[in-house]
Amino acid sequence: MKTDTIVLGAGIVGTSVAHHLAQRGRAVVLVDRRGPGEETSYGNAGLVERASLYPVAFPRKLSALVDVALGRNPAANYHWDALVRLVPWMFAYWRASAPARLLDYARHMEKLLAFSIDEHDRLARAAGATHFFREGGWLKLYRTEAGLDVERSEFPLAHSYGLSAREISVDEALAMEPSLRPVFHGAVIWSDPHSVSSPGGVTQAYAAHFAELGGQVRKGDAGSLARLGAGWTVMTEEGSVEAPEVVVALGPWAMDLLRPFGVNLPLQVKRGYHMHYHAEGGASLSRPVLDEEGGYVITPMVGGIRLTTGVEFARRDAPKSPVQLEKTEPLARGLFPLGARAEAEPWMGSRPAFPDMLPVIGPAPGQRGMWLAIGHQHLGFTLGPITGRLLAEMMDGETPCTDPAPFSAERFA
Ligand SMILES: Cc1cc2nc3c(=O)[nH]c(=O)nc-3n(C[C@H](O)[C@H](O)[C@H](O)COP(=O)(O)OP(=O)(O)OC[C@H]3O[C@@H](n4cnc5c(N)ncnc54)[C@H](O)[C@@H]3O)c2cc1C
Repeated sequence: MKTDTIVLGAGIVGTSVAHHLAQRGRAVVLVDRRGPGEETSYGNAGLVERASLYPVAFPRKLSALVDVALGRNPAANYHWDALVRLVPWMFAYWRASAPARLLDYARHMEKLLAFSIDEHDRLARAAGATHFFREGGWLKLYRTEAGLDVERSEFPLAHSYGLSAREISVDEALAMEPSLRPVFHGAVIWSDPHSVSSPGGVTQAYAAHFAELGGQVRKGDAGSLARLGAGWTVMTEEGSVEAPEVVVALGPWAMDLLRPFGVNLPLQVKRGYHMHYHAEGGASLSRPVLDEEGGYVITPMVGGIRLTTGVEFARRDAPKSPVQLEKTEPLARGLFPLGARAEAEPWMGSRPAFPDMLPVIGPAPGQRGMWLAIGHQHLGFTLGPITGRLLAEMMDGETPCTDPAPFSAERFA
């Protein structure tokens, strides 16, 4: 069949791109080897961020690095064999984590974050998915004064962008979340972010609405993408699809497709794990809670309380090594009455990340008719819908809602 656009990858990013293109009247086929929202976009912590102006940066203090190296920081884990291969990427990540560069990051990222909640809201209303969303921000807990101090240092920037970050007492935090135990020293409530009770459910609802708009969701292997004249063709279970334009939104798998086409970009992965727990004795949470020094987030989800871990540097396809889950679970049990594990196996996913921590949204260098929406690192669930809007505006030649230049793949040329 012939169509206007093929979108490869039905995570939150590809689904949102497909949705925006279909809304503009294009015929779109969304291709994935699985169902929509079953990979990284399923397993995240469910935060629709608004306030994360500072990224998860490479540690700049020697003591912090030593903690990671010695396995003393439960937020981080690594496999030696992956580190060797990652040296150039890590060096670029370290350089991008210099204080001045972090301010550049914040300036660019704010341009997308400013849209994150409204764009989700628009899609959620259209797709009948608003029941997954809740307000109330997210609560960050600190076990030490030093940790709280680092957080306080982020307030001036946040306030300069009109964001609400407020230090609260332990008692105030317990009033907000009565099931927490006072094992922490201080807390900060960031009120602007929203969160969801099922990131996979949200993505599936957006995909279902895309189909209602006339879009087609098909199973197929993106690896079958090939040039066909000036356009593209890909094989799906229902036969081949041809289109003048293709969007690559394959998240952590994007480079498997792009490298053979000569599109070489420094995309790596930061793996992470989750586990669901039954809450004991009617305990509940009403928002995501970060235990900063504990190195995990707990979020109320439809499947129970979801504990998500920090970053693991490992080969994307290396076997699971959920040591962070083993380290953080006892800490989380001390904070909140977690009952039995609800699953036999921890879930593992991979955050697709560029070393400067910004996504790539725009044309693929040297490949006419190919567009990229990849590398959304820790914020992909947040940024899916605004990415869809921005890319659709670029593809249709409209005035973009924000300057796409910082997200160009050309920055790595
Ligand atoms: C532990 C953890 C916690 C996180 N918490 C948050 C959070 O709270 N808030 C937030 O905003 N972000 C969070 N993130 C990040 C976020 O989940 C990701 O950035 C986002 O899901 C990436 O979306 P995506 O659409 O790019 O990728 P994916 O959701 O992975 O989608 C890529 C799709 O490509 C498909 N695919 C791959 N290869 C092929 C192929 N050959 N053929 C066909 N299809 C293929 C896959 O099946 C998949 O459906 C977290 C991530 C992790 C791991």
